[in-house]
Amino acid sequence: MPGEFDIIREYFQRNGKAEGLVTGIGDDGAVIRPAPGRDLVVVTDTLVAGRHFPEDRAAADIGWLAMAANLSDLAAMGAEPKYAFLNLALPSADEIWLREFSAGLFELADQYSVALAGGDTTSGPLNVSVTLIGEVPEGRALLRSGAKPGDHIFVTGWPGRAAAALQCWRRGESVPADLDIAWRRPEPRVAAGVALRGLASAVIDVSDGLAADLRHILEQSSAGQYEIGAILDAEKLPLAKSLLELFGGTQARSGVLSGGDDYELCFTLPPENVPVMQAAFAALNLPVHEIGSIEEERGLRLKTTAGVETLTGQLGWDHFREMDA
Ligand code: ADP
Ligand code: MG
Repeated sequence: MPGEFDIIREYFQRNGKAEGLVTGIGDDGAVIRPAPGRDLVVVTDTLVAGRHFPEDRAAADIGWLAMAANLSDLAAMGAEPKYAFLNLALPSADEIWLREFSAGLFELADQYSVALAGGDTTSGPLNVSVTLIGEVPEGRALLRSGAKPGDHIFVTGWPGRAAAALQCWRRGESVPADLDIAWRRPEPRVAAGVALRGLASAVIDVSDGLAADLRHILEQSSAGQYEIGAILDAEKLPLAKSLLELFGGTQARSGVLSGGDDYELCFTLPPENVPVMQAAFAALNLPVHEIGSIEEERGLRLKTTAGVETLTGQLGWDHFREMDA
């Protein structure tokens, strides 16, 4: 059985220098030297077996997901990812599991040149917590709080796919390949986040569900002298083909509004920035859909062919409510 230090050396410590990382794994702490004129953005996210992923999830997928969830938070801040920290509680020192887990983690980390700069390894029920540090030019981080009446609302990609996959899996049905990939290997929208700097008035990543996360933008942008609301156009919600085939239009639409864990970005833009954003996203080949607009009237509304309904109640994932249930 490998000991703690063998595990770190074998699976997590890698050679090679990362820019700005003066001291990495091996000392009591990492030393990071930020570039002048840059702000650091720090995000952290914990994955618990049986809660955030099924107990039988492949180790490589867990490694990928831990990195993806954090990259998505950095994307929502408009930050470029730089350094990662990994806190790992392991039920046993299973070397096959560790090899696959670290391969999945580094597969995604390497796509963004993220250096693993430290962490902690203990025994216990499987728990994977990653902290990421990213950078933005000074004062340019994107927040949730800048949406204004008249802004247009967009979402990247096709939200709802991961939740649909989870639903198929729970029912014991086969999961269509595109939904399965969105669920097990979500692609964080890092390039989109960086492209939105200086353009978006508010950004959030869709982890709890599009409607629930948009509500966070509305709440946080409402502080100050005015309150805001939003109207979404049901006809404009992006419906992935397999979602439509599985559930039909009405249910697919509510899946798009309530499904979490896709790690798409939802953002608002003042009208004058829309063409620039669309050109930037087209150049990067990033899918984006306009879904509604910010209004002066409070609340979240959905326009359908039948009229306008107010969206209330629990449209999204909330861990504590789920535990109460
Ligand atoms: P200490 O006991 O001083 O807290 P540790 O023995 O826990 O230090 O860790 C030794 C080194 O290994 C540190 O640099 C720490 O950041 C790193 N480390 C420990 N666990 C991990 C891990 N799972 N992934 C990456 N680095 C790790
Ligand atoms: Mg120490």
